[in-house]
Amino acid sequence: MFPPLGFLYIMDVTGEATLMTQPISIWILGNQLLTDHPALLRAEEQAAKQDIRVLLIESQYLLDHRPAHPARLILLLSAMRHYADHLRKAGFEVDYREAPSFRKGIQDHLKMYNPPRLLSMAASGHNGKEFQQTTLPEISSIPIEIIPNTQFLVGQFNPYPQPDPDKQYIMEYFYRELRKHFQILVDGQGNPTGGKWNYDQQNRKPLPGDIHIPPLPTFPPDKVTQQVTAQLSPRFKPRKMGFDFNLAVSHEQAARALKDFIQNRLQDFGPYEDAMTSRSSVIFHSHLSPYLNIGLLTPLQVIHAVRQAYQNSEIPLNSAEGFIRQVLGWREFMYWQYQRDMPELKNGNYWHADNPLPTFFWDGETKLNCLQEVTHRALTFGYNHHIERLMILCNFCTLAGINPQQVLDWFMANYVDAYPWVMVPNVIGMGLHADGGKIGTKPYISSANYIQKMSDYCQDCKFDHNARTGVEACPYNFLYWNFLLQHQERLSSNPRMALSLSNLRHLDQEEREKVQEQADTFISRLE
Ligand code: FAD
Repeated sequence: MFPPLGFLYIMDVTGEATLMTQPISIWILGNQLLTDHPALLRAEEQAAKQDIRVLLIESQYLLDHRPAHPARLILLLSAMRHYADHLRKAGFEVDYREAPSFRKGIQDHLKMYNPPRLLSMAASGHNGKEFQQTTLPEISSIPIEIIPNTQFLVGQFNPYPQPDPDKQYIMEYFYRELRKHFQILVDGQGNPTGGKWNYDQQNRKPLPGDIHIPPLPTFPPDKVTQQVTAQLSPRFKPRKMGFDFNLAVSHEQAARALKDFIQNRLQDFGPYEDAMTSRSSVIFHSHLSPYLNIGLLTPLQVIHAVRQAYQNSEIPLNSAEGFIRQVLGWREFMYWQYQRDMPELKNGNYWHADNPLPTFFWDGETKLNCLQEVTHRALTFGYNHHIERLMILCNFCTLAGINPQQVLDWFMANYVDAYPWVMVPNVIGMGLHADGGKIGTKPYISSANYIQKMSDYCQDCKFDHNARTGVEACPYNFLYWNFLLQHQERLSSNPRMALSLSNLRHLDQEEREKVQEQADTFISRLE
């Protein structure tokens, strides 16, 4: 039998064969900080630990080429440096580089160590993948192996491996297939635990005023994080708002954040997952996306921990299923859609929306209370929960006809969990319906009525959530009706919009003109 690739037998003078291994270099990207990194596991099958060298690159180009939330950059670099320590402790040699670009970092590594081959895990983003497929072979003459990405479960089981490019796939069915395959909340026959696949009906409650909201756990910056912060802070000066960095930066801390969520917030996650309040930005959400997106936590680790809490009767089924749906359903579906539709997806502009993003998105200064609260939170903490991103920010941008690519740039610049594979489908697809409905089955738009029902923002707002037009009227109202009138023809082909469109009958000609005039004036003054 031949020895596996990478192993070498040297014959000595007596004819005795000695096993030698060839060195391997592994390039691990900053958002792939997995403990069970598949490239490490693969290399360990082929070479002795002392022959495995891990390359980690802090690319100055990636830090600078577009604006990013300070907390996102601190988290990324601090977690990378902690990961390097973790690997060194585990016995690997680590080549940790600060380089102008990935290209330069890799070239310098190859020059210094002259490894016979290079291993890497496929990037999750489109540009990273292109770099691995095109640039890497150009800049090196050694064999390069790119192994499949294991940060997503759809890499292990893809329910639709050859998708029809024109077909609309529905998240619900995609999610059910994954639940059955991974045996999550299903019985031996593949039937859902509790008899239902979906508990959304129980999960749309507004927040009671007196409910206790537990604080998030905090992780005070250690020396590594302090160094990173000091090093990066000259870059942050132009930003208007400050922040206190207290996120988890290691696997151990991220596991504590997961445990804290399960013990203190998961119980109430389900019923209040759509609720919004000025009292808290996270409410009962997990705040785990920053860790999932860089490999400090893995989807199955999170899903299994939540399932266990349900099996131990610590949390109700609607919260367990509601949460697992986010990770196993939406997260995987978005990644799958991104892989399917890039690069076209990024440029979607179904509504031909070309108004510029208003400046208040960058300074939080608007008299609309909901938008003021939500933009302020993004600018300060780099976080809004899903419904704030969807029904406050994207809803406004859709109704006001803001250019989708400008919205995307703003989102990319302002969130701790921002990565292209997740931002592009969420903003262009789900948030703005700018992909024409490949990802979401309908545009997520609403008048102030929804915001009033699901939040306490309207209570302290100078605008009247009940008024459709007039000086006091909440802009979400006239913008909403204006949008329905403007796009009536396109919307009428979507059965899920039938009810909303049928409500247009309540607007006589005079009211329609008022709505359109006020929307036009408002939009023209947005700058
Ligand atoms: P929870 O509500 O506790 O949900 C648990 C987990 O489910 C999240 O951590 C996340 O990993 C996953 N999840 C839930 N919904 C989605 C979704 N639609 N897509 C992908 N994963 C999901 N998520 C990001 O991770 N990065 C982004 O850049 C991002 N941008 C978004 C932009 C818009 C316009 C919208 C509408 C959604 C975006 N999301 C993004 C999805 C979702 O809003 C966030 O994952 C979630 O708010 C993160 O907070 P959490 O960890 O408290 O989530």
